[in-house]
Amino acid sequence: MHSYPQLVIDKGKLSHNIEEVTSRCAEKGISVAGVIKGMNGLPELTRIYAASDVTMIGSSRIEQLKDAISIGEAEPELRKPTLMIRIPMLSEVPEIVKYCDYSLESEEEVLRALSSEALRQGKVHKVILMAEMGDLREGFVGDELTEAALTVENELDGLYLAGVGMNVGCYGSILPTKEKLEEFVARAEQVEDAIGRKLDILSGGATSSLMRVLDDSIPERINHLRIGEAILLARDLPLFYGCDLSFMNQDIFRLKLEIVELKNKPTYPSGTMGRDAFGHEPEYIDRGNRMRAICAGGKVDYGSEDEIFPLDSGIKVIGASSDHTILDVEDSDRSLKVGDVLTFGIDYASMVFVTVSRNVTIKYI
Ligand SMILES: *Cc1c(COP(=O)(O)O)cnc(C)c1O
Repeated sequence: MHSYPQLVIDKGKLSHNIEEVTSRCAEKGISVAGVIKGMNGLPELTRIYAASDVTMIGSSRIEQLKDAISIGEAEPELRKPTLMIRIPMLSEVPEIVKYCDYSLESEEEVLRALSSEALRQGKVHKVILMAEMGDLREGFVGDELTEAALTVENELDGLYLAGVGMNVGCYGSILPTKEKLEEFVARAEQVEDAIGRKLDILSGGATSSLMRVLDDSIPERINHLRIGEAILLARDLPLFYGCDLSFMNQDIFRLKLEIVELKNKPTYPSGTMGRDAFGHEPEYIDRGNRMRAICAGGKVDYGSEDEIFPLDSGIKVIGASSDHTILDVEDSDRSLKVGDVLTFGIDYASMVFVTVSRNVTIKYI
């Protein structure tokens, strides 16, 4: 059996990252929902979250939360509350009630359907109402948040209003500044004034909000974050915002591809130029003849060749088709031969592909 393309996943490094994030958040009174969607909820890794200090397992996909529940059924001490983080489809309401302890919500119609379904199933489903904070993805706008909260609190007997949440940095590229988070707390307190009690959960965002934990400017009332990327990759905050995450592992995931051709070839194609395999008209630069490798594995495995990063700094990815990755290896640190294996780092965009490609063998270490 061939073993490449291969994704090597270091489970110990994942445990370490979860611990670093949950302990830093705990110091500020913040509990963490571990968001598993980035690695497609690989059960082997979900189990690590289940055994950690995260207080909920969060995902955008019900299938992944079902796996988390199966893990808890096999080992009851690993049963963690599940959180649906993508606002639900009306068509999945019965499953939401069945498999999710909590869900994020932004539509009154869905809330009503959830409540009826919960009553039907003899359950009380816990909801976190999302506040639109300027990023313009999900959330109740303005006073609609308080109105929805009053409806849940007073009319929808199948639901429990667990809290309110915010999300930024997804569509509108909005940053969770201290001011933005304080604005969110003010909206949460308006809800509390209207319903006449404190909310259990003020969920202040995702990985980007972790910056406010690290620079010690997170408002005191925020007591919950939903963290995916910072735990799995710890790449975005240092790369985009110069944040020091040196205490985190950035190498939990490594992609390995095998060389199937190694030749000295021209860098400029010859013949009449039309389109590449994907209908594009790329630009080519003539750099003369250079040593080039082709690795088995391509866009179907990792999405885009811009999202994988050779660890050998002398190697550059110069192109890819569905099943081939083309590399300039002229300046490689080591002398290569056909059959050698090259190692790559991945980012979020490639992680979502490599963790589900049936062509990629996953090896846990
Ligand atoms: C994906 C997602 C998260 C986790 O985001 P990261 O940036 O990976 O931490 C949290 N909340 C919601 C609503 C999401 O969709």
